[in-house]
Amino acid sequence: MMEVVLVLNAGSSSIKFAVYLAATSVGNPLIRGKIDGIGRAPTFRARNAEGGDLEAGNLAALDISNDHRELTDRLLTWLESHDQGNKVIAVGHRVVHGGRYFRVPVLVNEDILRKLSELISLAPLHQPNNLEPIKTLLKRNPTLPQVACFDTSFHRTQPRISELFALPRTLTDEGIIRYGFHGLSYQYIANAMSPHLGEQAGGRVVVAHLGNGASLCAMKERRSVATSMGFTALDGLVMGSRCGTLDPGVVLYLMQDRAMNAEQIQHLLYHESGLLGVSGISNNMQVLLQSTQPEAKEAVDLFCYRAASELAALIVPLEGLDAIVFTAGIGENSAEVRRRICAHLKWLGVELDMAANQANKPVISTSTSKIAIAVIPTDEERVIADATRTILFDKTG
Ligand code: ADP
Repeated sequence: MMEVVLVLNAGSSSIKFAVYLAATSVGNPLIRGKIDGIGRAPTFRARNAEGGDLEAGNLAALDISNDHRELTDRLLTWLESHDQGNKVIAVGHRVVHGGRYFRVPVLVNEDILRKLSELISLAPLHQPNNLEPIKTLLKRNPTLPQVACFDTSFHRTQPRISELFALPRTLTDEGIIRYGFHGLSYQYIANAMSPHLGEQAGGRVVVAHLGNGASLCAMKERRSVATSMGFTALDGLVMGSRCGTLDPGVVLYLMQDRAMNAEQIQHLLYHESGLLGVSGISNNMQVLLQSTQPEAKEAVDLFCYRAASELAALIVPLEGLDAIVFTAGIGENSAEVRRRICAHLKWLGVELDMAANQANKPVISTSTSKIAIAVIPTDEERVIADATRTILFDKTG
């Protein structure tokens, strides 16, 4: 029997999970999988360490439901029946918002869970789903150590000027600041850049995490100095169904002249905007790239234009630019989106190697490009596993 660490990454419409050996950070997870499409048409997939299918699309294996709480419970039961005789000695969770209290990963207890629940209004799409598996596990196995790892933590190295809104100081003092998100992904990329970028990895780098949620992080010496997301995960880039940066006057107009209430506006900005809103077709980049509709083309054009514009804005805090790294679903897989974003940045001396880009190679810039460009698959689960091991072994001596 081996001791293992379970990682749960519960998003708005998916739950990713992975099982790692507790004793070593080397090697693939023993099991890795994902329940996707929760709320719509859920699918379930699980693979072993060699990448072989354990349950390809076998929904019956999980008796799948559309309820996060039930799904978590069934997933835990499924994992127990596939534990290969191993013992889970700790569970690491992705938690989107750590607010002002939590700057590093933390061992969860009832008091900490209460504090994390207070942050739900700052991340209404994600935080409740992140906390659900923690609560379920506390009930199932109250003595099992659980570690919360935060998407906001990586950005706490930012200078105060990057965190400030131009609002009255009292509001800043009360915590209305730019927190930034996708920090677990950025942490992974910060550690993984060197083999591809060499010395430039320690220089001035913008990492573009382009998935359903999308953001940019400006890193100097592998530390966050600025990011495109702010107080909530709504700010910055155009996303699957989120609007990104918006004149706050639009919100006031919708309230005052269109008599929309907070709940309706929240739904509009989180679920009906972004690629979905502009195209009127889909939140899925792959679908839009294949569409011949002009609205689909406009949505993709806006996505790329805004990503490049926000990237250029991060050159101020970085005082220059040595490298760009693309990651997450769109960043890792879409040569077309990378090509279009880089075309907007040609004036900076960005030169793409078209063949390398098309082949999703790790380095996609030409040898004469002033700025190196890399494609690095992210791995948030690995970062959570490492943090969980660290806390666990620190605590137990
Ligand atoms: P999440 O934020 O939910 O984890 P992902 O990082 O999985 O999202 O990214 C999902 C996005 O990646 C979707 O818009 C999807 O269309 C896009 N994507 C995945 N593969 C491709 C591809 N080959 N070409 C274009 N877009 C892709």
